[in-house]
Amino acid sequence: MANASIAVVRTVAELRDIAAGWRKSGDTIALVPTMGALHAGHIALVNKARSLAKRSVASIFVNPAQFAPHEDFGRYPRTFDADCAKLKAAGCDLVWAPDVKEMYPDGFATRIVPAGAAEGLESDFRPHFFGGVATVCCKLFTQVLPDYAVFGEKDYQQLQVVTQMARDLNLPLRIVGLQTIREADGLAMSSRNAYLGADQRKSAAAMYAAISEVARSVAAGGDIAAATAKARQHMLFEGFEKVDYVEVRDAVTLKPVEAGAGGNRRVLAAAWIGKTRLIDNIAV
Ligand code: AMP
Repeated sequence: MANASIAVVRTVAELRDIAAGWRKSGDTIALVPTMGALHAGHIALVNKARSLAKRSVASIFVNPAQFAPHEDFGRYPRTFDADCAKLKAAGCDLVWAPDVKEMYPDGFATRIVPAGAAEGLESDFRPHFFGGVATVCCKLFTQVLPDYAVFGEKDYQQLQVVTQMARDLNLPLRIVGLQTIREADGLAMSSRNAYLGADQRKSAAAMYAAISEVARSVAAGGDIAAATAKARQHMLFEGFEKVDYVEVRDAVTLKPVEAGAGGNRRVLAAAWIGKTRLIDNIAV
């Protein structure tokens, strides 16, 4: 079925047919998993996918398995027609858009339980989250059988969890991470930014400013606890109502780092403005 003249596929059977045809012709495939409400960050992933493989597939699926009952599954922005038009304009070949029954048919009862990089940070506040992400990503990978899957560093812990899962389960694809695309004031683009009112939107830029300052300070040998405490205060002062975490972690394992330790480190943060929870991260 075509939507704004991009091919939209709704069933696993049809998807497999098309992808098998591509593989038979020797075409490589890159997948960009999304939940829709697409912005320039998602389109950057599609551009990367197109540079990696002959064929690109974007999935649009708001995955109920990664939302807790009290979270925003019901009100998550859904802009399917506009998404399809953007994907078409970006040169994407196919939209994979199953409904919930196609992804999780009656009787579905299997769940991937990621540990390692999934421990702590987001999991302390959204314990259901990475199980839902890993399960749907594993399914997306086995449905599309892509050579590459492209993920944003915006969801940095997710990128590490999916990378670990692909390695642990010998999934025959390469996970590729892409840097975060930001608004002019530094705010990471996110579908959830649509929830923000004008004042909240202004306040939201304080998260990037705060974690950037932590990165600078820690890179210069500053005390991690002092830098992260200052970042929390800065965000609260600028209009965030609650800070879930500001942490400096090992960039691959996401384990806490010792004071004074060098190596590859990442600053990660999550905080609330009103009913909106924002996350961001940056390299030290
Ligand atoms: P989402 O639809 O928000 O679940 O995200 C789908 C993919 O887009 C994930 O790999 C995200 O990390 C990525 N993504 C979301 N926002 C950005 C951004 N601002 N820059 C780069 N990638 C992003």
